[in-house]
Amino acid sequence: MNGIHLHPHDIIDEGTDKIFTLLNVMGDIQYIFPQVNTIFERNPYPKGILPHNPVHEFVQGEGTWHVPLDVKAVFEKLYQKVDESVQKGEDSIQLLKEGSSTTSFTIIPWLNLLNGDFQGNVQSNRVVDFRGNDVEYWLCPNGPDVVPMWSNLIIALTKKYGYKTYLIDRIRFPDWAGKQVNPKGIFSCFCPHCKKGMESLEINVPKLMDTMNEVALLLQKQEFKPAVHILLNSEHIKQWIQFRQDSVSVFVENLLNEIHKINPDIHLWLDLWPPSYAWLLGQDYSRLTKASDTLKHFPYHKLGGGADVQGFIEYFADTPAKQEEAFQAFLSYFNLQYNISYKAFKENGYLISFVKNENDKVRELSEPNTHIFSGIQMWNIEEDHLIEALEAAEESEADGVLYYCYGWADEKLFHTVGKWYKSKLT
Ligand SMILES: [Zn+2]
Repeated sequence: MNGIHLHPHDIIDEGTDKIFTLLNVMGDIQYIFPQVNTIFERNPYPKGILPHNPVHEFVQGEGTWHVPLDVKAVFEKLYQKVDESVQKGEDSIQLLKEGSSTTSFTIIPWLNLLNGDFQGNVQSNRVVDFRGNDVEYWLCPNGPDVVPMWSNLIIALTKKYGYKTYLIDRIRFPDWAGKQVNPKGIFSCFCPHCKKGMESLEINVPKLMDTMNEVALLLQKQEFKPAVHILLNSEHIKQWIQFRQDSVSVFVENLLNEIHKINPDIHLWLDLWPPSYAWLLGQDYSRLTKASDTLKHFPYHKLGGGADVQGFIEYFADTPAKQEEAFQAFLSYFNLQYNISYKAFKENGYLISFVKNENDKVRELSEPNTHIFSGIQMWNIEEDHLIEALEAAEESEADGVLYYCYGWADEKLFHTVGKWYKSKLT
């Protein structure tokens, strides 16, 4: 059984009847994942127009909260900026709830936890990079107010709409993308809570920072291989990666514990990075799947597995030869064993085998019986490549697919999926 992501503007602008009609064309959709709070993402990403939206050509996500809940009253110390649409009385989740009441779709609200425009005591809950700068719009999983804010919000959402399962996304440290490419954000977090945590584990924080400075210098000098060598072999870096993973796992575990004190029936499903990258960002599949039995990850092979690989490479490397060198170093750091040039990657992304490989890795790393959704890129893609990805997911260890996303997908692609699904049934 498969699912698809919706954004607030899809529901508000297009209406649920039209959405359900297109989803029914696909023939295989059970779960709808409507977004409750946005990230700083252009819809569609990175360019183009929303192909069937009658109101907007594109919509810029601003990291805001999109449902009418008094977030400040729910948790006063830390709260997300409320989107202007809420003041206008818009409530996409309520519309979806009403619209879907006579359908068999299952609604799983989708929340972005650590990335967005937050207000209140941001200073005590922010992510800090190795140079001591704030990483804009990111909350630290070790921030003292982050678990209380989210447990209260999830309880309040359940009271308001009655949904008991949520997909939690952005449960990680920052990657290098964002409003702009910012590789410094990777070398985090050095907020007081993380520093204290690392020190209590006898991690030598000044030495760790020195190591990161050394790597940063090598990258600036376009010496990519030596940089990767340090990243792969430094004890300080290894300890830091472990600390990040434990921080995110403990964050999810604590969040669930807090929620279950009030409502033990609530489930959290995980939205993760593909396993080849996830470990660096603080996502430990083995431990996280002890807390949650269902996850989605997004092996969008055309887009470098969801990562802005090109942005990263071209941030550091300024000639085709250096870009090739940087790309090969990137592949070796993440143990991505694909024999492709940077030029080929820019044209076609990873090989299609990335989809199956990543899904199989997820299965290997996760608790037995974890339900795995393989993210399927449904925009900026040709019909035959979409089918290729569906076939790769089907041949893999994934249990189902989760399409990203309704609003960005050309209408013909809904039919493409529908035809493919039908052809399998006959
Ligand atoms: Zn921190």
